[in-house]
Amino acid sequence: MNRIDVDEARRMWNEASDEELIELAQGVRARFHQPDRATYMVMRIINYTNVCVAQCDYCAFYVLPNQAGGYVLSRDDVFAKIDGLLEVGGDLVGFNGGFNPKLPLDYYCDLFASVRERYGDRVEFYALTIAEFVYLADNAKLTHAEAAARLRDAGVHWVTGGGSEILTEDFRKRHAKFKYTVREYLDAQRAIVESGMKTTATMVIGFDETLDERLEHLQRTRDFQDECIRDGYDGLFSFLCWTYKPYGTAFGGREISPREYWRHMALSRIFLDNVKHFRTSVLTQNADAFRALDFGADDFDLPIEDEVTQKAGATIELDLEGLLAVPRSLGYTVEYRRAERPAALTA
Ligand code: SF4
Repeated sequence: MNRIDVDEARRMWNEASDEELIELAQGVRARFHQPDRATYMVMRIINYTNVCVAQCDYCAFYVLPNQAGGYVLSRDDVFAKIDGLLEVGGDLVGFNGGFNPKLPLDYYCDLFASVRERYGDRVEFYALTIAEFVYLADNAKLTHAEAAARLRDAGVHWVTGGGSEILTEDFRKRHAKFKYTVREYLDAQRAIVESGMKTTATMVIGFDETLDERLEHLQRTRDFQDECIRDGYDGLFSFLCWTYKPYGTAFGGREISPREYWRHMALSRIFLDNVKHFRTSVLTQNADAFRALDFGADDFDLPIEDEVTQKAGATIELDLEGLLAVPRSLGYTVEYRRAERPAALTA
């Protein structure tokens, strides 16, 4: 199958049956992966601070500076959470928090260096999202390239694409006007790639975004990856899509159905023919996430904590074997994979 454009994707979304989407998505998936195999990691997201000035209206997690309930985890708290992850057999930490004006870039460099020093190769970590990275670079009055070099030199291997939600300027003005512009986001992500660190693509659906906004997000992601590959970089390691949780947020709303999520995963898999790994979200879809393997996904993580989504209504199932029984019942062999350690940086 040839690459599809936005008009074809729109038509496919409106007219294709589930079976047709599955067949086309499986075709793209099979270029990269065995059809009946899926991989997974065990992950803990450590929300190091809930203090945030971005004020996204879809967020139930943050408190403003000086409001009651704000916290910053101590280093011992962070280490205890990593120890807990190792105890259940996981090896991937995702650091994610708010735009806390009291925590400068140096704070993060020290924190990440201390994690690297204490745990070495035993854990890998997603240090920040692009969204947090943009905020910290701006506050430090550094270019994205300079801030990326500081993190890399502190032992960071990954700055993930988290915080992208829907990458259109209009969406950002409606819901997250203090966060970043799309141009800033993509410029920062390119700087991460050029620094030698690794990154990923993410997307969140289920707010009030239109179909055309979803397609614009996918187009921007594909263009970004095309340019990375053209210039000799690996670019985006994976694409992860999850769904908005509306409980306790200013924006409110309702959750989309699992079927809409699966269809979107299929459409994205077909459209993003230049990204190898497609990750389905157990964090927001629980057992329903695994059906997305039929719709083109090949990878997932089993999360043991994420306060951001839990505050907005996500529930985490800690019976990992019980969860793994679901993809097995769908006919998949599931294999644990260690979080990727970028060779150039660990050498
Ligand atoms: S989503 Fe992130 S950046 Fe936005 S308000 Fe919540 S913590 Fe802050």
